[in-house]
Amino acid sequence: MDKSIHAFLSINKQGVLDQAEKADREIAEKGLSADRPLLGIPIAIKDVLAEKGAPLTCGSRLLRDFVSPYDATVVTQLKNAGALTFGRLNMDEFAMGSSTENSSVGPTCNPWDYSRIPGGSSGGSAASVVADECIASLGSDTGGSIRQPASLCGCVGLKPTYGRVSRYGLVAFASSLDQVGCNTKTVSDAATMLGVISGYDKRDSTSVPRSVPEYSAALQSSIKGMKIGLPKEYFVEGMQPEVASSIRQAVEKLEELGAEIVEVSLPHTEYAVACYYIIATAEASTNLARFDGIRYGYRVDGKNPFELYCATRGSGFGEEVKRRIILGTYVLSSGYYDAYYLKAQKVRSLIAGDFTKVFETVDALVTPTSPTTAWKLGEKMDDPLQMYLSDVCTLSSNLAGNCGISIPCGFTDNPTLPIGLQLLGPPFSEETLLKIAGDFEQATDWHCRKPVINNAGA
Ligand code: GLN
Repeated sequence: MDKSIHAFLSINKQGVLDQAEKADREIAEKGLSADRPLLGIPIAIKDVLAEKGAPLTCGSRLLRDFVSPYDATVVTQLKNAGALTFGRLNMDEFAMGSSTENSSVGPTCNPWDYSRIPGGSSGGSAASVVADECIASLGSDTGGSIRQPASLCGCVGLKPTYGRVSRYGLVAFASSLDQVGCNTKTVSDAATMLGVISGYDKRDSTSVPRSVPEYSAALQSSIKGMKIGLPKEYFVEGMQPEVASSIRQAVEKLEELGAEIVEVSLPHTEYAVACYYIIATAEASTNLARFDGIRYGYRVDGKNPFELYCATRGSGFGEEVKRRIILGTYVLSSGYYDAYYLKAQKVRSLIAGDFTKVFETVDALVTPTSPTTAWKLGEKMDDPLQMYLSDVCTLSSNLAGNCGISIPCGFTDNPTLPIGLQLLGPPFSEETLLKIAGDFEQATDWHCRKPVINNAGA
């Protein structure tokens, strides 16, 4: 199928067969056990997480020959749980983008329509799950990169609270926003995955020492009596009418299931896109300084070190990454630091404060994940601002460090394209989100719909 979808950047064919044989033997000898919940389950990994011996390209020419010398903590956790890790998934270069078109080796296609984008930056992670190429996948979410592709491809996408999951071995884009999470076919699979990858890691100083609840158990209780807020600012201008109506219907369904819905306001939402694109680019500009042709993979020689840096970075990075490095360097430069970076940090506090305030009165929030369904490949490539604006519903929760989940809640008719519902909660409220998402999933059949995939190629 991957000829049509192009979700994978590399596959470890022999490795996965060996792992599968081992899993078979273990099952035959010892049977299944609770401490190996992923035994024999094929799971693919976004090409931004280190996996020992596997390529780690971040979708970039700059790392095209780079092989990880060690495992990210989440990869170790997957392996300890018995998972078969077998392939590396396509993404926007260094996770910068909303469509996977910024990958240096070309885009992933949406499984529902190969002429459309799968979302991004974890486009490969969502598309591979929807196309049945794996059972679940890992992705990273800095401003929506797990949830938005989940919405546009039609699967579950979970962004845990900042600090819930270790970032050790995740190639940094914007360290104060990055979080590892998963794409899955069902909410219960998301609960299982979260249980495996959560927990304190002394190798990530921002991971939080907090016990890991039995996430799957949360699915057993009901949402009756819960209070869910509907933030009016998330029904933005330019929103696709079918998206708005599917969200309204989903909200009615949640009411039917026993939740109380109240309208709430997050007044600083309108500044989220600007605020995010200052902070994320500032952090990216410093994080990506290490890719200089000296220590990592790709190098273009020059007469002196300065020329070597320029030639390597000039041809190694793609256009969007360069745009962000330039923007990020600018907002951090003397004279502009106060006007942009510092101001954005203050706005970030206001945005976080909005959430703190509403979560005093509601258990969770319900919003669209993306204002539109999947657009055509190429449609927004010449207009970065339009691309940035498509992230309006997902960015704020990264700025605030909250958790969020996207689940399928409808389809457009012609063409048939999935629509996603986003649930947001305060830090460490993943159980609440899983409970609401699980109840909704049980009461609907959106998650059962499958695209017809052929292998004819796009
Ligand atoms: N689309 C957003 C960006 O381009 C978010 C990306 C992400 O979450 N990695 O920055």
